[in-house]
Amino acid sequence: MKFRTILQLLFVGSVGLAGLPLGGCKKPMLPNAAKPVAEAGPAVAVAEPVAEPPPPPKIRHPDTKGSVIALCYHRFEEKPKDSMAITPAAFEAQMQSLKESGFTVIPMQDFLAWRRGEKSIPEKSCLISIDDGYRSGYDVAWPILKKYGYPFTMFIYTAFVKGGALAGGGSLSWAELAEMRDAGVDIQSHTVNHQSLRVKKGKFQNQFATYEEWLQSEIAGSKHQLESRLGISVGVLAYPYGIHSEQVRAMALAAGYEAAFTTYGQRLTYHSPADQLGRYAIEHNKPKIFTDALAMIGGGGGMAESTAASVPGQIAAAGMVTVPMEGEVVHELEPPIKANLAALGDVEPGTVEIRVSGVGAVPVKFDPATKLAVGTLLQPLKDRQVTVILSALLRGKKVEVRWNFTCDAVALPGGQAGVPAVPGAPAVHTAPAVAGGSHSAGAPVVPAAAAPLPGGGNAAAAPR
Ligand SMILES: [Zn+2]
Repeated sequence: MKFRTILQLLFVGSVGLAGLPLGGCKKPMLPNAAKPVAEAGPAVAVAEPVAEPPPPPKIRHPDTKGSVIALCYHRFEEKPKDSMAITPAAFEAQMQSLKESGFTVIPMQDFLAWRRGEKSIPEKSCLISIDDGYRSGYDVAWPILKKYGYPFTMFIYTAFVKGGALAGGGSLSWAELAEMRDAGVDIQSHTVNHQSLRVKKGKFQNQFATYEEWLQSEIAGSKHQLESRLGISVGVLAYPYGIHSEQVRAMALAAGYEAAFTTYGQRLTYHSPADQLGRYAIEHNKPKIFTDALAMIGGGGGMAESTAASVPGQIAAAGMVTVPMEGEVVHELEPPIKANLAALGDVEPGTVEIRVSGVGAVPVKFDPATKLAVGTLLQPLKDRQVTVILSALLRGKKVEVRWNFTCDAVALPGGQAGVPAVPGAPAVHTAPAVAGGSHSAGAPVVPAAAAPLPGGGNAAAAPR
């Protein structure tokens, strides 16, 4: 087998990582660790993809019935500092109220599938979303949502993620977002900098020659960053402050978003325009907004329970033989994705997972004898700059490896050239070190990039 020969040859000259510490992990868990593993042969385990399965056949479902209310939350605090926060008790009461009122909380992906005519939804459906990326969404809201089995979406503005230019004390980290992703939480875009997309001013625009370039960065750039960092497919945008324009909407659709949300609360139907779907922004001092939302239409959803508090150990791919190689340029739209995991040590068969930016999780075959993991793309690559994220359990601990390559077969869309590279992207070849745990001593794979701006905490007050 030609590939394996090349791989082995390459591997001879590489540096093994087996002796490296794995970072301070608590109790990691792969999302599919508990799932049954199909055996394709005595030696080959097939790990099922966890999220974003290949799109179902586009059968038009006759059922266009169903109504949806979409709820939008921000922060969860015992003593709300402003209208954007709600107390944990009030939030839980609302979740209980949804149940008692007969609403079914549906995942965003079901909503999208319904809109594509591929799936039915219950007549009284509800979408739950949490904007911006505050820690309280993770610490406070998530446990409550888990208790009710409600799926939900996190709309993240990427500069607010820990290490970003607008990050503050209340920001979530990329590792925490990855943990949420692994537990089945839907993660979507809320732009890069959380500026009104309609207003052609602002300090961030100083970096761009034109409004259009800046807009492209906010809309397409945020999608690209989330996809690269998390290995997910991002298809939904929430406009900051709910503000949009014809130009903004057109650019969102051109960037590949399938749906975009405002904060103009309304009943959503099969026929609601995809680029301006209204959500009810819930405020602690206006309880009527929530009761009005419920009154628009008259259920429980199904997010898998998960063990929280696992920050995966991350290992740089330096020294690991991969195909495509780090930095390689490939010419096919569905290249094989391979990695020799020998450098990692004895990974547990059936726990190997591969995610590809813009695509999501892909089916994986892992051969414990050769340590070769092979991922199969079931759809073409979407972006020229591709990040692969491979994870597996190693002696009970989750390890993660990532590398990047370029696919020059993907067409350059209009403004794609204006999309900035992911800031602080891991330098895969230079850091044979371990990160992940906040108490890791090694050089972080996901470096803390720019220091927070002076008064960075103000991000906690403004955005919605
Ligand atoms: Zn916001």
